[in-house]
Amino acid sequence: MKKLYTSVFCMLLCSCILTACNDKTPLSKLQKGSSSSDSSFRKLISSSLVSHRLSGFFSDSRRDHCTRLFTDAVEEAIAQNASISNPSIPSSNYTNGQQVALDPSWKYADHSAISSGTATIYLATSNRKGKIIGVNAGHGTSGGTAVKTLCHPDGSPKTTGGSTAEGAIQAIAVSSGMTFADGTPEPTVTLRMAQILKEKLLAEGYDVLMVRDGEDVQLDNVARTVLCNHVADCHIALHWDGDGLNYDKGCFYISVPDTLKSMEPVASHWQQHDALGEALVAGLRNIGATIYQNGHMSVDLTQTSYSTIPSVDVELGNAASDHSDSTLSQLADGLVQGLNQYSW
Ligand SMILES: [Zn+2]
Repeated sequence: MKKLYTSVFCMLLCSCILTACNDKTPLSKLQKGSSSSDSSFRKLISSSLVSHRLSGFFSDSRRDHCTRLFTDAVEEAIAQNASISNPSIPSSNYTNGQQVALDPSWKYADHSAISSGTATIYLATSNRKGKIIGVNAGHGTSGGTAVKTLCHPDGSPKTTGGSTAEGAIQAIAVSSGMTFADGTPEPTVTLRMAQILKEKLLAEGYDVLMVRDGEDVQLDNVARTVLCNHVADCHIALHWDGDGLNYDKGCFYISVPDTLKSMEPVASHWQQHDALGEALVAGLRNIGATIYQNGHMSVDLTQTSYSTIPSVDVELGNAASDHSDSTLSQLADGLVQGLNQYSW
């Protein structure tokens, strides 16, 4: 009878370990421990073995058998951990080019008014960083101005001006954007910027969630934000400011207004949003881009109000800004540098 109990107990323990080894979450966490993760894992399992040995529950032969199984399980786990740490081996749950739709069960998804479109995942092929960057080419949703969504998930009024006036409960689901001095519509430039940024991010080892991957996507600002919340590690929306100026005032990010900092989910995430914005502007400054004043302007945005991951709206200039591919490429270099400096 004791042998039977021992065998069952041994099998259960081993299956627990093997199950844990097949679960990406703990392995991802181990990966974050980088170089020390393997030794930590060995220590954890070793101490577990020691405690079982001390228990005196196992017979010698059964204990040796279990020890061998434990060791095999540990080696397998370490091998899997190493493969995840190896940047040449994909760790994403997604396949390259996969279309991702909004899941109606996701938090705040029911606040969206336009959500039939899909975003596209692109996976880096080398130097994998294990981060999915949500790249949101601002605007570009036909019918976006005909419907409205709540400015804030709790239905409270907007606290600053912007595309929608202060005090409004609802905002246009997706505005059409500004127009450059040469007549080019903002959505055309934000898409081109997103495409250039995508290539640079992939080359750097980041995976990319292209929220809008063509001229139009049927995803409003809430849907775009919720998709990023659930799929990406951060959310970068690309815009140019419609300020009416006839000179290029430079780049800045939209920081979180103090009036929003006590409202969830902003209360739990505004520091991440602002830190990401600061990092991106620092990267833009590094590549010599003009920076507007201190690099930020606080505006109450739908995106910010619904974001549960580091999320920022970057304004890369205004109607007077050059938007040639060479300028967009430099700006993309700055954003990548900024991301590389961001502390996750
Ligand atoms: Zn815009």
